[in-house]
Formats: sequence, C-alpha cells, structure tokens
Amino acid sequence: MADFKTHLIGAAAVSGLAATVLVMTGQFPHQAVIGYFMLGTIGGLLPDIDSPTSIPIRIALMVMAVVAGFLVVFTFGARYSLVELIVLWLGCFLLIRYGLLNLFDRATAHRGLVHSIPAAVGFGLITVLIAYHAFGSSITHAWLCGSFVTLGFIVHLLLDEFYSVDLSGKKLLKSSFGTALSLGSLNQPIGTAALYLAVVGLFFLCPSPRPFTELVLNHATYRGVVQRLLPGDTWFPGLLRRVTPASLIDPR
Ligand SMILES: [Zn+2]
Repeated sequence: MADFKTHLIGAAAVSGLAATVLVMTGQFPHQAVIGYFMLGTIGGLLPDIDSPTSIPIRIALMVMAVVAGFLVVFTFGARYSLVELIVLWLGCFLLIRYGLLNLFDRATAHRGLVHSIPAAVGFGLITVLIAYHAFGSSITHAWLCGSFVTLGFIVHLLLDEFYSVDLSGKKLLKSSFGTALSLGSLNQPIGTAALYLAVVGLFFLCPSPRPFTELVLNHATYRGVVQRLLPGDTWFPGLLRRVTPASLIDPR
C-alpha cells in the first residue's frame, strides 16, 4: 500500500499532466482547469476514506468540525454571551471530531468495496451529477469534473497495486497483490451487485456525455497540443519579457 504522501503526489502529478494538456488545447477556461486539477487530486485521496486511519478523512472531519462549530455560533451569535458561544462551539466541535470519527471507524473496513474500479466510476458519476445539478455547470464541464475524480481515484488504486509488489525480490508478490485494483469483492456479493446497480443508476441520472465525448475524443481538440510537444526555435519565447518589469528592459 502506498502512503498518503505518495497518493497525494501521484494523483496531483497525473491530473496535473492531464490538466496541462487541456490548457494547451486552449478550449477550456483556466479557472475550470485549476478546478479539474484539484478534483483529480481529491479523487486520489478518496479511495482511502474507508480506512479508519486515513489522513484525508481525519482532515475532512477536522475541517467539518471547525466549520460546523462556527456555523452554530454565527446562528446563535446575536442571542447568547461570548462564554455561552464558546461552549456551544466546543460542544459542536467535539461531537463531530470524536463522535463521528468513532462511528466511522466502526462502520467501515479498509479495502472494502470503496477500494474498487466500480467505486471509482461511481464517485466520478456522483461528481458529474453534483456539478451539473447543484452548480449548474455545462454538460462538458460536469463530465470533465467527474472524469478527473475517476482519474485520480484510479491512480490511487494503481499506486496501491504497485506498492503491493515486494521490491526486495525475495518474494515476487505480497499477499495484498490484486486487492487494490479490484472489480468488486467476492466476499461481499450483495454489496458488489448493489455497487454495480448504483453505478448504472447514476449513469442514467447524469446528462448524456455526448458533448463531452465529442470534444474530448476529437483529434481536432488536440491539434495545437501535438504541434507544441517540443519547443520551437527558442525556449520559453517571451518569458523574460513577461517576468521582468518593463522599465528594466526599456528604460524611458
Ligand atoms: Zn488505498
């Protein structure tokens, strides 16, 4: 199994590369591409949310606890004294930080169904749905958001798979080989079936991916990228002019 740091770097590197290609096509607004990059990185952390010792889930709970505490305090801010508000904030924070964490630890076992390819697709489809319905994104934008989440997720599964190989050479495969990049779990046939049903259901709830696939699978989209794979006559043309104050180059 790869650790948190490896997952963070791996997912960020792969989604960063994919996002760079999108920037080079010139077809996508920069802010959107930064969003895709972040979603891909988050996707790379998602598979371990079912792990009780997962750092992302702990960070997420911590942030949630702090934010929820302040939301409660802001709601009652006009009515109570400062001391009462601090007690409220603390109570809210402790309940979420420790109460929810305990619940989570008991309810999940790592490398369960969340750690699988259908779950990767499912999380992507949920992202498409949220982007499209809750944020009113265009179909192409919503599907790109979902694709990046799935991409990051799969990078995570692959990293776990690679790290299950014993590099010392004594034993070729560790016993965990093949458990990371799974299509489901034979030990949980009902859960696996439910997961596949959920993925199919989610797909039909999503808007048709047509405009997205037409753009992403079209060669014309990448024409500019292929031409710019290698630098031209000079490296970084115009960069020096852009990063130096104009007065230095052209004192007038
Ligand atoms: Zn993992």
